[in-house]
Amino acid sequence: MVSITAASVTDLRFPTNRTLAGSDAMNPDPDYSAAYLELSTSDPDLTGCGFVFTIGRGNDIQAAAVTAVADRLVGRNLDGLLEDPSALNRELTWDSQLRWLGPDKGVMHMAVGAVMNAVWDLRSRREGRPLWSTLVHLEPAEVVALVDWTYLADFLDPARARELLEERRSERDSRVALLRRDGLAAYTTSPGWLGYDDNKLDRLCRRALDDGFSTIKLKVGADLADDRRRLGIARRAIGPDTALAIDANQRWGVPQAINAIEQLARFDLRWVEEPTHPDDIVGHATIAKAVHPVPIATGEHLANPTMAKQLLQLRGAQILQIDATRVAGVHDLVAMILLAAHAGADVIPHAGGVGLCEAVQHFAFFNAASVAADPSRLSLEYVEHLHEHMAQPVKVTAGRYRIPTQPGAGTAFHPTTADSFAYPAGAHWQQ
Ligand SMILES: [Mg+2]
Repeated sequence: MVSITAASVTDLRFPTNRTLAGSDAMNPDPDYSAAYLELSTSDPDLTGCGFVFTIGRGNDIQAAAVTAVADRLVGRNLDGLLEDPSALNRELTWDSQLRWLGPDKGVMHMAVGAVMNAVWDLRSRREGRPLWSTLVHLEPAEVVALVDWTYLADFLDPARARELLEERRSERDSRVALLRRDGLAAYTTSPGWLGYDDNKLDRLCRRALDDGFSTIKLKVGADLADDRRRLGIARRAIGPDTALAIDANQRWGVPQAINAIEQLARFDLRWVEEPTHPDDIVGHATIAKAVHPVPIATGEHLANPTMAKQLLQLRGAQILQIDATRVAGVHDLVAMILLAAHAGADVIPHAGGVGLCEAVQHFAFFNAASVAADPSRLSLEYVEHLHEHMAQPVKVTAGRYRIPTQPGAGTAFHPTTADSFAYPAGAHWQQ
């Protein structure tokens, strides 16, 4: 019998604000951070990892929340937990006292996500598979059983979700073979941070083309005249055939968003991301209708599957950008992938930050193999910094994510990272 013996949480912070990498209209000076959980077990070779990504101040609050949830697993039998992870997910998300701090949103919900992702990391490591493969090898009924349907079944009947998975089943092996051979398209945000000057923007756009990316994303939303100028620079640099997306990081109100998108649409936008407040579902629907056919994308701040359901029901987004650490982990993410498939929306995950690429790629590959109607429409965000801090850094070559091959959920940090970047005791923060 293997049991969970300890839950250790580390406040990791990286000083990204010094280079303005990661800067956008809402977040001008992020220090990319992670509240990082390691679940030790009675098997010395088996540790499960999960984390919540934050951007600096408050990471200590997030770490305390992860501790509050993870401590409940200490002393418990791992086999029992892995036998029915949905029961654990339900236990943690429906805890009546902690639920008061949400429900299903914010610091506590993300803390549950770190814990559930660590539990699935343990499951995949024990199976000797990467997480995407663990999910792909579940039967359709088992996938459906991962989801808490309480607030979702009015839009997507679980029986219909199972049918959908069964319809894709015959293509699964050929899709996996193709994904092993070709990977999954990456798009890059690296040229487009708002803090970069025009020359750097131009240079990095050209470099992204040379690196094989077929979609580039620019941050917008601080000043419309600047946005027009920067989009002009980017479009000239990449030519007409490379897709160009923009991300306003919630800066606009609804009428402002409509006005700005109407003015920027001539740059041929693949999508407009987070045009307004992420909770304003009706606002997203109003914007999407007004600027049709420009696609609207959102999701990195979408608190839970219930919000995703409403967004998709009202056609407020044509692209759902799931994030590996915004929601309560594997079970919520599988729910959102199924909801998107039912609604005919593309899942193009949010990544970047620190560790987000490594974690969310598993859900992108699962979606491409087992759920999505047309995997060729899918891509996944890629930002090139901080991968050296992960134990299993992503492999992106010729503009494509290569399928992960190592066991686990991709959520482990490099063993020496905490020595330098634990806050405030790490060597870096002591200088
Ligand atoms: Mg974004």
